[in-house]
Amino acid sequence: MTTTVEQEAPALTPGQSPLMNSNIPDGPLADKWTDHKAHMKLVNPANKRKYTILVVGTGLAGSSAAASLAEMGYNVINLCIQDSPRRAHSVAAQGGINAAKNYANDGDSVYRLFYDTIKGGDFRAREANVHRLAEVSVNIIDQCAAQGVPFAREYGGALVNRSFGGAQVSRTFYARGQTGQQLLLGAYSSLMRQVQEKRVTLLTRREMLELVIVDGKARGVVVRNLVTGRLETYAGHAVLLCTGGYGGVFYLSTNAVNCNPTAAWRCHKKGALFANPCYTQIHPTCIPQEGDYQSKLTLMSESLRNDGRVWVPQKGGDPRPPNQIPEDERDYFLERRYPAFGNLVPRDIASRAAKLECDNGKGVGATGKSVYLDFADAIQRLGKQVIKERYGNLFQMYEEITNEDPYKVPMRIYPASHYTMGGLWVDYNLMTNIPGLFALGEANFSDHGANRLGASALMQGLADGYFVIPYTLGDYLATHQPADNLSIEHDAFKKATAGVEEMTAKLLDIQGDTTPVEFHRQLGKIVWDNVGMGRNEANLKKAIEEIRALRDQFWVNLKVDGKADTLNKNLEFAGRVADYLELSELMAIDALHRGESCGGHFREEHQENGEAVRHDDKYCYVAGWKFTGDASHPELHKEQLHFESIQLQQRSYK
Ligand SMILES: Cc1cc2nc3c(=O)[nH]c(=O)nc-3n(C[C@H](O)[C@H](O)[C@H](O)COP(=O)(O)OP(=O)(O)OC[C@H]3O[C@@H](n4cnc5c(N)ncnc54)[C@H](O)[C@@H]3O)c2cc1C
Repeated sequence: MTTTVEQEAPALTPGQSPLMNSNIPDGPLADKWTDHKAHMKLVNPANKRKYTILVVGTGLAGSSAAASLAEMGYNVINLCIQDSPRRAHSVAAQGGINAAKNYANDGDSVYRLFYDTIKGGDFRAREANVHRLAEVSVNIIDQCAAQGVPFAREYGGALVNRSFGGAQVSRTFYARGQTGQQLLLGAYSSLMRQVQEKRVTLLTRREMLELVIVDGKARGVVVRNLVTGRLETYAGHAVLLCTGGYGGVFYLSTNAVNCNPTAAWRCHKKGALFANPCYTQIHPTCIPQEGDYQSKLTLMSESLRNDGRVWVPQKGGDPRPPNQIPEDERDYFLERRYPAFGNLVPRDIASRAAKLECDNGKGVGATGKSVYLDFADAIQRLGKQVIKERYGNLFQMYEEITNEDPYKVPMRIYPASHYTMGGLWVDYNLMTNIPGLFALGEANFSDHGANRLGASALMQGLADGYFVIPYTLGDYLATHQPADNLSIEHDAFKKATAGVEEMTAKLLDIQGDTTPVEFHRQLGKIVWDNVGMGRNEANLKKAIEEIRALRDQFWVNLKVDGKADTLNKNLEFAGRVADYLELSELMAIDALHRGESCGGHFREEHQENGEAVRHDDKYCYVAGWKFTGDASHPELHKEQLHFESIQLQQRSYK
C-alpha cells in the first residue's frame, strides 16, 4: 500500500541533536589535530595483538586502514566482495589525488586546499575535518611514493602536478589516467605484507549483510560467502566500514556494478545515522548513454578539462560535423559564464551548465544529450604526443567505446552519477553514533559538504585509512577491555544471522516475474528524473510516491532464480536493490526537506541567474536521519555547522 506525501518537512528535531556530537577538539583550527593526537589515549604495543578489528572493504580506505592497523600490531580481519582486494572500485579512479605540497610553486598551501574544499562543498562541511584533511594530504604523497606508486614526474625527477576543478593552483598528483589503480597497488602490497605476516586475515568474496551489536557496541558482522552461499559470523572489538558510496542508486552510473549501499544501509537500520543522503555528485564528463539496455556509464576523467575545451554550437540543431563549425559559431559556455575558472569550474556547476545547454536544444549527437570536449587547440599548441602522454589511456578507452577518434573529432560528453557525498554520519574520530562502528572513505559523509572537488576522494580515503584511524581507533579501544563479550556464540550473533536468513528466504519465496535488475533500472529512472541534477518540490513528492509504489511491487513481483546455498548473483542483486528502494526514498525526503540549493543539491525554486542559492539562516547543518522501523518516516537530527575561520558567502567562480 502506498501512502501520500503529506508534508514538505518531517518533524524536525530543533537545534543540535545530542546524537550528533562531532567531538571536535578545542583550540585553534590549525592546531586541533596535532593537539588531539598528543592527548589521545594509547593502546600499549603488547596489548594491540589482543584486539581484533573487522575492516569491511579493500578499496583505498579499507586496504590502507587494514594494512596500517596490522602494521601497528592489531589483528585484522579484512573482507571484500571481489575475488581480490585489487578489484575494489578504487581501481577505477583515473585522474589524480590532491595534496597541498605546492611543488608547482603557484601559491598553494594547507590553508588554500582547506579553503577550496570548504568552498567547493558549498559551505556544508565541518571546518575541523577539512583542515585535518588538507594537513595530512602532504603525508599521503610521501607514503605512496615510498611504496613505489609511479606518480608522473618531470624530466628532472620531481613529481609533476595538474589542475582539477574548483582550484586555481596545480595540486593534483597522478599516474597517467590510472591513479586509483596505482595507489591501490601500493596499499595492496602493504596489505599483502601483513597477510604474509598473519596479522591480516583476508576474506574475499564475502558480503556483509548485517552488523552485530552487543551491549550497545558494534561487535561483529554477518557475511554471506558469495561462492558457497553459507552465512558466516565474525567478531571484533571494532567494525570499520569502508564500503564505498551509493551512486549506483541511479542504476546508470560511473560506478562499478558491484558497488552497493547494503553494508551502510543495514548499519543505518541498526541505528547508525545516515547523513545528507541528498548530496550526490553528477560528474560532467561521462560518455553519454546510447540505449535503454546499457548497464553502466564510463567516466572521462576531469583531468581532461585541463586541456579540453567544452562547447556547443551556437545554433541549436546545427547539422554540421563539429570540425566544420567555425570558431565564431561555437559557444564555449563554461569559459563565457565563468571566466575566472573556465573549463575547470567544479563538477556541480559544469554539470548543470551542460544540462542547461542540452535542455535549451543546443545539445549534440543523436540524442541531443551531449556537449563537445575538444582537444584541437591543445593538440595544436602542445602536439599530439604530449596529449597522448597525459591522457593516452583515456583517449583509447573513448575510441573503443564510441568508435570515434578524439585526436581528430571532439569527444561527446554528458553528466552522469559518479560519487556520493552523503553517507554514514561520523564524528571527528570517524566513529558513527554506534560506539565501535567507524566509517571511512566514501562510506562516510565527512569532508566534502554538498559537492566534492575532483581528486579529493582518493585523498580522503587514504587520509582516513593511513593517517586518521590509526590514532582515533586506539583512543576508543583504550577504554575497552580486549576480552569484553567477544564471541560469536553470543545470542546477538544468532539473532542477526536468523534475520539475514529470514530476509533471504523472503526474497527467494516471492517468485514473481520481474528480475532485480529490472526493478533497479526502473528505480534509477525515477531517481535520475526527480532527484538528479535538478530537484523541485512537486517532482520530489512524485518521486517519493513512485519509489513507494515500486517498493511495494518489488515485494510481490520479484523473481530470483536459484537457491540460497550456492553462488547466486540474482540473490546478491535482490538484496542490494531492496536496500536501494529504501535509501532512494530517504534521498528524496532529505532533498525535499532541504529548502535551499547547495552543491550537488540544486532545488530549482532556490536559484538566481541559474546559480544555487543557499539559506544559511535555516540550513547550515548536517542532516542526520535515524531509522524508525519505517523507511517512509525517518527522524531528522541536526549537527549545526560552525564556521570560525571562513566567512560564509555565495559561491562564485566568475
Ligand atoms: C570512474 C571513477 C573515477 C574516479 N576517479 C577519481 C579520481 O581520479 N580521483 C579521486 O579522488 N576520486 C576518483 N573517484 C572517486 C574514488 O575512486 C572513490 O570515491 C574511492 O575510490 C572510494 O574508495 P573507498 O575505499 O571508499 O571505496 P571502494 O573503492 O568503492 O571500495 C569499497 C570496498 O568495499 C567492499 N564492499 C562493499 N560493500 C560490501 C559488503 N556489503 N560486504 C563486504 N565488502 C563490501 C568492496 O568489495 C570494496 O572492497 C572516481 C570514481 C569513479 C567511479
